[in-house]
Amino acid sequence: MTKAFVVGHPIAHSRSPLIHGHWLAEHGIAGTYERIDVAPERFPEFLRTLRERGFAGGNVTIPHKEAAFRLVDALTPRAEKIGAVNTVFFDADGRLWGDNTDAPGFIAHLDQSLGADWPERTGGTALVLGAGGAARAIVVGLIERGLAHIQVANRTRARAEALVALDPRRVAALDWADLPAALSGTGLLVNTTSLGMAGHGALDLDLTPLPATASVADIVYVPLETPLLAAARARGLAAVDGLGMLLHQAVPGFSKWFGVEPRVTPALRDRLVADLVGR
Ligand code: NAP
Repeated sequence: MTKAFVVGHPIAHSRSPLIHGHWLAEHGIAGTYERIDVAPERFPEFLRTLRERGFAGGNVTIPHKEAAFRLVDALTPRAEKIGAVNTVFFDADGRLWGDNTDAPGFIAHLDQSLGADWPERTGGTALVLGAGGAARAIVVGLIERGLAHIQVANRTRARAEALVALDPRRVAALDWADLPAALSGTGLLVNTTSLGMAGHGALDLDLTPLPATASVADIVYVPLETPLLAAARARGLAAVDGLGMLLHQAVPGFSKWFGVEPRVTPALRDRLVADLVGR
């Protein structure tokens, strides 16, 4: 029996058990994936005793991602760049590795939604709104996918500037006030702020200057159709929702722990959508 987990504080809201439970059933694997609530002061001990409690690994979420980054035995190059860990697994020598799967999750969802040639269609340009943890992962993903010109606009400009160091030849910081002017040269617009999320403020941005070929992605998935995505669709632009990133970021962890590469299918997505809208 292979055991995996998602650890956070709080953790009741996590949809990861639904995703991994779906794949365990689909592949007939005798495994478990459980939610574990661990307060920050107990997190180091939690990680240290994983092996003796029989876990193959698991997911790490708020507020433990930076602590996991410091506490694991080894980091993947991607986790090292992002500075946060959302997936842990053991290697054959019993060393605990930390990975960050948000970047490949975001990119895999774009590939599936827009077709694998989307980087060419964007002209190699992206504009990322926000500079928090998720933005950092997404900028790393866009760099890895070869985009040549990535602009980052954030309410707090210093945080956008911190992302420039990821690749100063390709990443530039922008003032929030200069957003409208930047849109006309943008092939891919990505919202990584919490604006547009249920219970948060609205993202007030007129999309009119975006080129007719532009695509718009929002990583907020509650609601699934954010006002930003609705505005993009109203303009006839390709719109990519945040749920796919959540589904695709789960794939590498499941593969590591259970030895099978699962697929993100319409049936899985439908289960998550039903859960999100409370059906
Ligand atoms: P975070 O580190 O707390 O960053 C929040 C970002 O939102 C910062 O850039 C912040 O700007 C900005 N922001 C917040 N309130 C704002 C406002 N009123 N006006 C302008 N900007 C504002 O959070 P995170 O972990 O990056 O997550 C961000 C969002 O992505 C959340 O909604 C989260 O649910 C979602 N997310 C989705 C997925 C997925 O799989 N789809 C994965 C991860 C995260 P400042 O720096 O100025 O504070």
